[in-house]
Amino acid sequence: MIDETHAAARTSWVTSANGHPAFPIQNLPLGVFSPVGGSARGGVAIGDSILDIGAALEAGLFSGAARDAAEAASGRTMNPLLEAGPAARHALRRRVGEILDAASLDASKVQGISARLLHDAASSSIHLPARIGDFTDFYAGIHHAHTAGSISRPENPLMPNYKYVPVAYHSRASSVRPSGGTVRRPNGQRKPPEQAAPDFGPCRNLDYELEFGIWIGEGNDLGAPIPIAEASRHIAGFCMLNDWSARDIQAWESQPLGPFLAKSLSTFISPWIVTAEALAPFRIAQPPRPSGDPAPLPHLNDAADQAKGCFDIDFQVLLLTPKMRAAGAAPHVLSRSNAAMLYWTVAQMVAHHTSNGCNLQPGDLFGSGTISGTTPGTEGCLLEMTRGGRNPVSLPNGETRTYLQDGDEVSFRGTAHRDGYVSIGFGECRGTVTEALPAG
Ligand code: CA
Repeated sequence: MIDETHAAARTSWVTSANGHPAFPIQNLPLGVFSPVGGSARGGVAIGDSILDIGAALEAGLFSGAARDAAEAASGRTMNPLLEAGPAARHALRRRVGEILDAASLDASKVQGISARLLHDAASSSIHLPARIGDFTDFYAGIHHAHTAGSISRPENPLMPNYKYVPVAYHSRASSVRPSGGTVRRPNGQRKPPEQAAPDFGPCRNLDYELEFGIWIGEGNDLGAPIPIAEASRHIAGFCMLNDWSARDIQAWESQPLGPFLAKSLSTFISPWIVTAEALAPFRIAQPPRPSGDPAPLPHLNDAADQAKGCFDIDFQVLLLTPKMRAAGAAPHVLSRSNAAMLYWTVAQMVAHHTSNGCNLQPGDLFGSGTISGTTPGTEGCLLEMTRGGRNPVSLPNGETRTYLQDGDEVSFRGTAHRDGYVSIGFGECRGTVTEALPAG
């Protein structure tokens, strides 16, 4: 639903929000933060600041359904708000938009107490927004699946199930981390083809994967599948997700049950939940399947979902090497992609995940799978960009990379655009590789 919260003319008295690349007043993403010297609490990102939801409650700025929603969003995790469903999120969004609106009746009163309500984002710690019960990683980027498959199986890159099943595996929730930290190069079993037996040591082929993250809101009971037509009301919001991947460990360990330690080393996310409501203007039709592809089976096929279930979000992957950092160079854009490259919609992922009766819970996280296009410069990971490490990437300063080296920083940017609307973004999903622990 598109309403006054999306109006392009709306500006905020928080002046850094006006023209902000990620967090203008039309976004209002939800997260959990600690201000300097303070405890963790719920907030809304607005420009370079964070609105403290609990402080706004104490100031008496909420009533009715918005007050209930603000109470659910004011604690150390967003799980209570996620559980409360779309009506609660919407009530909170409308009222927070009003509170921050430069033209609202309350603007002068609210501005008068802004020191109590707002914290500087750059000096705050931003935490995971929710307690993640389960993390499922899909494989819906068909161009990634095709290219990655063609490196190991040139004659048969896509498995026969791919166009029927939104393929996924259960990944690890405990090692999901918010943007900004370091990821240690993992040790693991490596067995390059030329080596007769595996050995144990630092991963040599450490990679990132650009993915769209999906936050589950209301859950479902065990044994009660979510029909495709109802799936979108269970999706609370979105983030960017970096599925760090140890390719050499993955290649050796994945038969027959799929990746394990190659993926659980850590997953980074942008820590603000960009709500389904904020992204409403940026929904587009799911691109038609190429002729000859099968239609989705009936339980995954819904006309409304096909008409509006895709998102037009541009993503960039940037790399900053230690040499570039020392020279004061800006991060280099390695690739650009778009969420519309996904073969399956997020609603299809939810319907598929629950089709056997599996229960989802508020705060569960999905990854979309690596989002790649079909042309050079649109690859969502180095495995694809370097064709399995065979073709190094050249950087502007003359350095090259096949996979990530210690000290390399990978960051993602994501922005939704549509004519007539203010663009909104996801903030930051950034992480730096550090050296492995001694393997002995
Ligand atoms: Ca992945």
